Amino acid sequence: MSINETLTNELVELDKKHFIHPTSSIKEQQENGPAIIFKEGKGVYLTDIEGKKYIEGMASLWNVNVGYGRTELAEAAKEQLETLAFASSFATFSNEPAIRLATKVADMAPGDLNAVFFTSGGSESNDTSYKLVRHYWKIKGQPNKTKIISRERAYHGVAVGSTSATGIKDFHHMTTSLATGFVHTESFSPEALRKTIEAEGADTIAAFIAEPVQGAGGVNIPPDGYFQEIRKICDEYNILLIADEVITGFGRTGKMFACEHWGIVPDVMLLAKGISSGYIPLGAVVVRDHVHQDFINLSEGTLLHGFTYSGHPTACAVGLKNIEILERENLVQNSKEMGALLHEKLRAFQSETNIVGEVRFLGLIGALEIVKNQQTNERFSEKLAPQIITEARKRGLILRTVTFGDSDTIVFAPPLVINEEEVNELVSILKAAILEVQQAAL
Ligand code: PMP
Repeated sequence: MSINETLTNELVELDKKHFIHPTSSIKEQQENGPAIIFKEGKGVYLTDIEGKKYIEGMASLWNVNVGYGRTELAEAAKEQLETLAFASSFATFSNEPAIRLATKVADMAPGDLNAVFFTSGGSESNDTSYKLVRHYWKIKGQPNKTKIISRERAYHGVAVGSTSATGIKDFHHMTTSLATGFVHTESFSPEALRKTIEAEGADTIAAFIAEPVQGAGGVNIPPDGYFQEIRKICDEYNILLIADEVITGFGRTGKMFACEHWGIVPDVMLLAKGISSGYIPLGAVVVRDHVHQDFINLSEGTLLHGFTYSGHPTACAVGLKNIEILERENLVQNSKEMGALLHEKLRAFQSETNIVGEVRFLGLIGALEIVKNQQTNERFSEKLAPQIITEARKRGLILRTVTFGDSDTIVFAPPLVINEEEVNELVSILKAAILEVQQAAL
């Protein structure tokens, strides 16, 4: 047995015995061991402990926007860890990286989204926003405005609040009781939102929350005009608008923030993932001046909400350096250009294969539908997307599927540094995988 095989066997056994994986099948882990044990990453590529190389077509979890192996980020972390690894931001204690990152985010964010509360990830950003908007109405003398309207197929995270806001029912089955005060409405219909508000009563609703592009729900891109209409409805009924830009923020859609596609400014914007490109856990809740001003004018006592790691100096130092890279290397523009190229090449699969239906992209986030009949969009009874991504993985490409409900969808979110050659490589591996599965299925 080679040294590699001995190591692999040891790690597989230890993984099965001791590591409970997030969002994974425990049975599958016990039967097959971990799917891949990664060792290192560079650019858009990851390598496993046996030396096999993969293109990361999902930037891990839609988050490694600047790509892997950035020494600059390691250096920023090292410098901060050696100077001041951690300090509390409670009780108005502060630190320079947190102040600078809050200022930078305020600078970049649309409109007057100017005040920042830090978290360590997307679920924390979500749960924080629900508490903040309810607090907001309470101090404004409307304590009954507590409900959060969310959407079908939405994904907002896995804390109790964010699980309850999530509209993908499969995530609710894990738990026997959800938080109260969450209502779901149809995804892309301003009329449905209006009806839900009327039915619930605007004086009971604190906020409407939406991902500008739904990610885990299958990469669903809103029709033009939808968010402009939503903004108007929220204003009309005196409801705060929360944009969950956890996936879409920091260049993913070909704009720095996806809201910019439609020229709207939410009252609250949620960030994570791309803010640090996953190099360190970090998230943020950004609020507009009018919300911040009401907090300043009306809050009494202590804002009793704060994570130990809110405003973590090392996380913030890495976030700052990450944003510097995004800007310096024009990665938002690259996201737009490479997204268009990937879109075009995948759309060609509609004629080059017999099982590819709709392909949709906005910047470097996209989806490809697998269908049995390209004219009617009829689906296969047995889903093929999972088989296709297994074939792709064998050939060195990592992708993800969305298969809840009747979806049979492959989703894409490569690092924003991807270049033309790497797009071509991704496309040719995926095409081979699709043709292989198609041959067996038709
Ligand atoms: N909101 C959205 C839109 C997300 O896609 C995610 C994670 N995929 C979250 C929130 C939750 O973020 P986290 O996993 O960092 O808690």
